[in-house]
Amino acid sequence: MTRLRPLLRQAAFRSGVLSLARYGVRRALTAVMFHRVIDPSDPDFALADPVYTVSAPLFEQLLGFFHDHYAVVDIHSVMNAYEGSRGLPDHALLITFDDGWADNLRYAAPLLRARAMPAVIFVAAEAVAADTMTWWQEDVFAANRFGWYSQDRSSGNADDPVGLVTRLALMDEKERDRLLERLPRQPCHARMMLTANELRCLADFGIDVGLHGYRHVPLVGLDDVASELADARDAIATMTADTAVTAALGCPHGRYDDKVVAAARSVGIKLVFTSDKRLNATRQGMLTPMRPLGRIGIAAEHIQAAPHRLDPAAAARWLWPRDCQ
Ligand SMILES: [Zn+2]
Repeated sequence: MTRLRPLLRQAAFRSGVLSLARYGVRRALTAVMFHRVIDPSDPDFALADPVYTVSAPLFEQLLGFFHDHYAVVDIHSVMNAYEGSRGLPDHALLITFDDGWADNLRYAAPLLRARAMPAVIFVAAEAVAADTMTWWQEDVFAANRFGWYSQDRSSGNADDPVGLVTRLALMDEKERDRLLERLPRQPCHARMMLTANELRCLADFGIDVGLHGYRHVPLVGLDDVASELADARDAIATMTADTAVTAALGCPHGRYDDKVVAAARSVGIKLVFTSDKRLNATRQGMLTPMRPLGRIGIAAEHIQAAPHRLDPAAAARWLWPRDCQ
């Protein structure tokens, strides 16, 4: 079956079954979500989380797929559709990145510019403001991935890295640093996250900056979500000399509820992007106001035929037959 499935997918792609699915959602806005894009020749590629990393050649081929099947729009067009001032084209696609990885500028940005495709990066303010080579949150996830703190499994931490990172993010910074000293820092050949200076360079590539929280913790369950978002908004606005789109938020860890959405509205955020794997329905190209937006996360395993080689049929199967609300 494992060999048969790609063949069936190819047949569906070629016979037009999937094209029918694409036609059925032509009026929807598709938002895709990336994290890291790294060239396989970069020594940091092998260390990066494969679930959240797409290789540069695979990304480039995927942009070709987007060119063939979508109208790539920027965050301002999505905002216009949300505010009802101008509708989106058919097959509208928004390319988003989460966190603010330096490799987005190094590898993704030139490939996007070569195709004149815009994108938006939802930046975790604290990660960019820190002056360390690595992002401590990724150090914790890497330690979990590589089993570096398996001796701590009895505490239950290793089974829930997001919970562990959240507890660390919310504690006093000095106490956190003291705890993190016990954690092996992963080898890293270049600074992991973008700098404030680099945020300002992104505009040259047609890439906008949006919000992704200040401390990069799940907003659900925070006592004061509005403060967390206001801190993020103010920090990112300062770092980008007021050029960021601070009315757009990618929810950290994709988690949200009605309270999060209300808090976002209270600090001027209009577009709330989740990680709900659905397409966003429009009416004559206009988005439904107040509705959080779904995004389809892209992982190499879902779209490649072989390492770094796109399987267009798999990409179509991953993106087109989706719930549309
Ligand atoms: Zn994130």
